[in-house]
Formats: sequence, C-alpha cells, structure tokens
Amino acid sequence: MAKRIGVLSPEIANKIAAGEVVERPASVAKELVENSLDAGSSRIIIEVKGGGKDLIRVTDDGWGMEEEDALLSLQRHSTSKISKLDDLESIVSFGFRGEALPAISAVSQLELITRPEKQLAGTRIRVEGGQVKEIRKEGCPPGTTIIVRRLFFNTPARRKFLKSVSTEIGHLSEWIGRLSLAKEDVFFQLIHNGEEIFTLPSGKGLGERIASLYSRDLKENLLGLDSGDDSLLQVKGFLAKPEESRSRPMRQLFYVNGRPIKSRLISHALFEGYKEFLPTGKFPVAFLFLQINPSLVDVNVHPAKREVKFSREKEVHDSISRVVKETLRKGKPVPEIKIGESREGRIKERIARYLSKEPSSSELFNPSALQETTALPKKEGSPLTLLAQFENTYIITREKGKIVIFDQHAAHERILYKRLKDKAAQARVESQALLFPLNLELTLKEATVLKQNLPVLTSLGFDIEGFGGNAFILRAVPSLLNKANPKQLLLDIVDDLLGGKKIEEPLEKQEQIIIIMACRGAVKAGDRLEQEEMVSLLKELPRMEHSYTCPHGRPTMVELTLEELEKRFRRK
Ligand code: ADP
Ligand code: MG
Repeated sequence: MAKRIGVLSPEIANKIAAGEVVERPASVAKELVENSLDAGSSRIIIEVKGGGKDLIRVTDDGWGMEEEDALLSLQRHSTSKISKLDDLESIVSFGFRGEALPAISAVSQLELITRPEKQLAGTRIRVEGGQVKEIRKEGCPPGTTIIVRRLFFNTPARRKFLKSVSTEIGHLSEWIGRLSLAKEDVFFQLIHNGEEIFTLPSGKGLGERIASLYSRDLKENLLGLDSGDDSLLQVKGFLAKPEESRSRPMRQLFYVNGRPIKSRLISHALFEGYKEFLPTGKFPVAFLFLQINPSLVDVNVHPAKREVKFSREKEVHDSISRVVKETLRKGKPVPEIKIGESREGRIKERIARYLSKEPSSSELFNPSALQETTALPKKEGSPLTLLAQFENTYIITREKGKIVIFDQHAAHERILYKRLKDKAAQARVESQALLFPLNLELTLKEATVLKQNLPVLTSLGFDIEGFGGNAFILRAVPSLLNKANPKQLLLDIVDDLLGGKKIEEPLEKQEQIIIIMACRGAVKAGDRLEQEEMVSLLKELPRMEHSYTCPHGRPTMVELTLEELEKRFRRK
C-alpha cells in the first residue's frame, strides 16, 4: 500500500549521494520505471518517440498518488521510501533520494496523471522547466502515467550533447531490459515511434525473458546457478556456456537485492570463476542475482544508484567465483564445434586439447632437421630458422647471431591488415559463401550498429541480410578471414564497433573496420599452430610495410642478440 510522501530533512538529504540523475533519455526512463515498480505495479508500458528525446511516456497500474502527494513528489528530497537515514539499511525499494521527479521536471515539459484506486477522480499536473503550470482533476484509470516531452528543451547545450535516435533508444531499451529481469512477475512493453520493441509477459520465467531480450540461442546455452543458502550471500542466476563469451564484458547483468547494478568486484569474481573454461581475451556472459543482508551493502554510493559497496568484499568475491566455478564444472560446458564453421582438419585435435586441458608448453622442433624446409626468406640478409612455438603464443626463430621472437597474433594481424587494405583499395575483397548460412539474433543496440556499418562490411566481403527486427542471416565472410568462426567473428566486430569511438568519415570507418577485422580474424595467443602455418606466416611478414608493429602499434617481434645473451651470462 502507498505510504505518504515526506520531505527529507536537510541533514538526511545532505548525506544522500548527490549528483545528476538525468543524463539522457535512458536515465529518465529508468527512474520512471523504477518508480512504477516501487509503486507495486504489475503492468508497465513505456512509449518513446525520437529515441526519448521527443517523448517518454510511462504508464503503470500501481497505487497512484493523491493530489497533495503528487504535488509533493515534484519537490526535491520528497520521498515516501525513507524517512530517516537508518531506513537505508533495510531499503527494498529502487528509489530513496526523492530527486528523480524534480530533476526530470526541471529539464522537460512533464505531465503527471495519477489516481489511487480508492479515489474517484485523478489528478493531472503539468510542469514546464520545474514550474507548475496547471493542476486539475480528471477521470483516469487507477495508477500513474508520466509523460516527459522535449527533454533538455531549456538547456540547449545538454540537448545538443544527446546522441542519435538509434543510440539513445539503444541505451533506453538496454536499461528497461535490465530492470525487467529484476521483476519477472511484472508485464513490460516498450514501444518506439509506434513500433513494438519488446513485450514481456509476466510469469513465463527468467529464461524466457532472457530469450525475448537477447536471443533464443543464448537461452539454449545457459546453465542454471544456485548457491543454496549461504549465511552471508545467496547467488542465483544463469551462466552462459563459454562459447557465448564476448570480447567485451557486456551482457553481464548483476542484481543485488533486486537492484540492477554495475560492479567490478562481481565482474572480476565471475571472470575468476570462468577462467579455466574461457578462451583468451573473452569475457563471460552471465546473469547473477545476489541476495545479501541489506545491512552489508551500501546502496548510497552513486547518484543514479548504479553501484553499491559491500562491507565484506573479499568474502563476497570468493563465494561468487566459487559457485561459478562449481556450476561450470558440473555443467561440463564443452564448446560446440560445427563442421563447416571451424577449421575442419583440426576439430578433433582441438576437442582433445580442450578436454585434456594440458597446460600449453613450447612445441620444440628439431632445428637441424628443419633447416631445409623452414629456411625462411631473407630478412635483412640472413635466413630465419624456425625453432619452436612457445606457450602457443610466440614463435621462436633464429637468425644469424640472434634469437627473434614473434608474437603470432600481432604478426598475423599485421598481415591480414595489409592484405585487407590492398584488396579494399582495389575494391576487390573476395568473399566466401558459408556452407550453411547462419542466423544471428542481436539486441537492438547491436542490430543498430550492425545496420549502420552494413555498407562498409559488405564492401569488405561480408554478406549479411536483415531478417526483420534484430535478426540477420550471415551468408558469406571475407575469404581472407575464412579460418575464423564466422558467427564469432561477426559478433566480435559488433562488440568492437559498440565499444569504439564513433567515426563519421566513410574512409576512416573502413580503416577502423579493417583494423577490427584483422584483429578478430587473426590467430590468437593460445592457438597451437602447425609448423607450416608458422612458416607461411613468417614468410609473409617481412614483405609488409610496418612489419615491426601490428595495426595497434604493438611490436610483432623482439630480438635477443648473442651479445645481450653473453652480457646476461656475464661472459662479457
Ligand atoms: P524516490 O523514488 O527516490 O522516492 P522520486 O522523485 O523518484 O523519488 O519520486 C518521489 C515520490 O513520488 C516517490 O517516493 C513516490 O512516493 C512518488 N511516486 C513517483 N512515481 C510514482 C508512481 N509511478 N506511482 C506512485 N507514486 C510515485
Ligand atoms: Mg524514484
């Protein structure tokens, strides 16, 4: 039942993490939806226009407000959720600062229409830039509707700072999606410019909600996790199998006592738990719901309530990584390798290696026996001899008077970069059709960035077709990158595009995508290479300009001269 709103005393108000809560349409929508959830709603509808820059309307069937409370709710530090600081120790609501509505109404044209069920008429209040312009009684269904028009209309500098419609709606849908996983028993619908983005019925289970928000594929690849009742901490949720891992720590959704939060501590604990199962450079995908005694969590550390602080950090960290590891071990997540998607000839070997998980060591060749076959082209005069692959990452070679060590990833990256660039310059990037076209389901944000970059990706040898909504079919990949897993390659590129800075100029964009493609298509640190693969890699390298660095500027090779060695052994 609704509690009456009170205004926090200045002493309390001053102790509450202050700061800007209204950054962009997504933060407005998040605050409004949190309020709807705090008001016990079971249906929440979010309608947005122009990425939220023109309009955000949130309609709920919660307990509403009487006129007096509705007016109070627009004042600073007025909240029905806490009245004294101690209340923060047992907080279960999303809000507590009494800042959102006044902050939003100060920078927009806001209308609040609300009615508690037991009252016959509702109240409509119209506010413009923080000034109440109109209050009137009117008939409306029980619950609350808040309409926010023309966000930042009176602060043009901030309005100008907003990103494109597609970027803003991407952020907004991501935040609503996050919140929706916290309240699986609530119906959510998000509509943008009259088109439905998602409808999430209540009571279908979290897995189904994850499938609606992300993809059906992901849902099929989730392992359930449940720590049981630990006295300090209970963790429940889902872990995605390692093959769903991404090249950035995205799709890691954490909830503490029902509140979606970002947390490096949890992210790190998750990573530790996954470590033995994860390919290098990958971050796990997981949905973790933590229940912890509220007195051991401080929610009052971030103005937008996006972070929390644990009082027993190490214990929290260790119990999370422990249960993650146990769950993965029990679930035996063996990577699924499909013929036609991977390097066929090496599948068996890869599976065997994966299962045995032998720590990689150096692969030693018999240099004298290989002298003939692996005498590499002359690099500045003298031939290179392949000696070994070390830790499945470095290629050790010998040249007259020195040892030359190559970073296999950096070197391959440099080669792919050069080749892709040459082909792109002649507009002759060949593509290779996939035996089986692949379906991809993306989030709105990912789909948007993919669509934006589709012309460049097509010019670089991808054949990708939109399949309605956020679904795509991948039909072909650039022939130069045909060794990589095509789906993973494309997802990696999308991840990098999302993480990278925005570049408008088409040529620069092509350059950026070539760099990403070279990086993602190249052999990785940790990949065991056949001897011939190393030879052809090294044969290629010296022909490149800038062959001493990868496109990111890291060295591709280091040298250890005889002289240096002799110094270290104190012969000289
Ligand atoms: P907080 O959520 O931190 O209390 P807000 O400024 O977001 O601060 O909201 C102020 C108050 O307005 C809330 O405490 C709540 O009592 C009331 N309120 C806001 N939105 C709603 C809603 N959708 N339904 C019912 N009451 C609401
Ligand atoms: Mg609030």
